[in-house]
Order: sequence, then structure tokens, then C-alpha cells
Amino acid sequence: MKAAVLEDIKKLVVKQVSDPCCGEGDVIVKVEACSVCGADIRTYNFGHRNIILPHILGHEIAGMIVEKGKNVNNFRIGDRVNIYPAIACNECDWCRRGMQVRCDNTIQIGDDTPGGFAEYIKIPAKAVNNGSLITIPEGLSYELAAVTEPLGCVLNGQELCNVKMGDVVLVIGAGPIGCMHVILAKARGARTVILADINQKRLELAEEIGADCYINSSETVLSDKMLEYTRGKKADVVIVACNSQKAIQDSLELLDWGGETINLCRIAQRRFNNTD
Ligand SMILES: [Zn+2]
Ligand SMILES: [Zn+2]
Repeated sequence: MKAAVLEDIKKLVVKQVSDPCCGEGDVIVKVEACSVCGADIRTYNFGHRNIILPHILGHEIAGMIVEKGKNVNNFRIGDRVNIYPAIACNECDWCRRGMQVRCDNTIQIGDDTPGGFAEYIKIPAKAVNNGSLITIPEGLSYELAAVTEPLGCVLNGQELCNVKMGDVVLVIGAGPIGCMHVILAKARGARTVILADINQKRLELAEEIGADCYINSSETVLSDKMLEYTRGKKADVVIVACNSQKAIQDSLELLDWGGETINLCRIAQRRFNNTD
């Protein structure tokens, strides 16, 4: 099969590799769509401490089952599926408490096993048994199904910080994750959703998603502009969806009493400790 193999940092090569081999409990999926995660770009640029190159990245995957082992009974050839890439151990303390998302021993499809930037991907038996294959409803395209994984992160975040009817929500970062947060916050009944970014182009692209107010924080002071728009009301929830220490500082400054903030960013511990 053909695959996009990351052979070295910043060296991605489309080449012929051997087809995945289907064990008795495994499933082979023909990849129809695999979206590019920020983590993929980071690994492409800087490598990843747990990924040994060469490696096939890609963990936001949707496709069709084309082969299955003889022990797989709950799926059929031809099923359209989305793949949940994190395989929890079901044995650690977090898993036993029902929080598999925090599992200490997660195996990640696309990091620990070959990923979806290929024609076919093997879903190991452990993932099949763990509920990693989710049937796609009729009418949902593979492309949209592939972004279920980041949308799941967004949904989890908003459930944790309880975005609700009447809230003022500030989202910092107008990339795909920030945009999904805006759409979801509106759907959950937030009264005012403000989207801020330092990149004007991203803000313009995000216009169609229906935030109430867009702020370019490279041209104006975010807190001034936001409080002017809300007439002094700070945010009930601030969501940081960009890798910026300044955004984390702003998130704390703009949070109202009893408010909650979540960070969907990766800041080096050293830099985070310097946050006042
Ligand atoms: Zn991802
Ligand atoms: Zn676990």
C-alpha cells in the first residue's frame, strides 16, 4: 500500500510499504479520510519523545472495514467507521474509576501503532474490543467523521467546565479547535461568545461560525475590547485554544468570580511556571 511516512524530522515521503496483516481479533480499515492534528504538525517539525522514526502518523481517521479476523463478530466488511485512537488499559486507577481518558498506560493509534496517513490501517484486537470502532451514521461524510476525535476533546472540555445557558464565553485561538468551541458554546446556550486571535486571516475565516464578537488581540488590548463589548462583564468560561503564555495570563485576568478556564494548549512546564 501507499503511505506518507515520516522518515525524519521535516522529511515526509509518500512511498510503498507493506500492507498491514490482520490477526484473529484485528480489523483492517481502508482509510477514506484522515485529518491533520496540531500534534502531527508538531511531530513533523520537532519529533516526539515516544515516536521512533520512520513512522506513519495520523489519528483522526474514518474509513471502511475491508477485512476482519475470525474472532471479530460485531462488525461487518463494508461498515463505515470512525476510529477512537486512544486505547485505555482498563486496569489502572483512572480506568477503574471510569475515567479512561486519563489512563496512565494509554496506547495511541498513530503514535504507538502505525497511523492513518496510509491507504489501510490495522486496528488491533485490543482497540476493537475496547470500543475504538464507532459506526458512522448514514449521511455523515468521511471527512466530517474524521474530525470526531478533536470534536470529542472539545466536548469533553466544555462538559468539564460546564458551559451553559446564559454564560459569557471567551475563546482565545481561532484555529479549528477554537472554532469548534465557539460553535459548541453557542449550541449549549451561551449568551455571548467572543473569539480572539492575533491572526486577522484566521478571524476572517472564522466569521461564518457565528461568534458574537471577534477581537484581534495583536491590534488592540484584549481585556479592554472584551469588557467594552460585554459592558464590564468578565467571562464565565475562558477557553485557551492556542500555545501562548500570554493567552493563559489573559484567561485568568478575564475570568469572572466562580468562572472556569480550560487550556487546550501545550506550554512547556518551565514557561507555565513563570505565569504570574
Ligand atoms: Zn489529535
Ligand atoms: Zn488505564
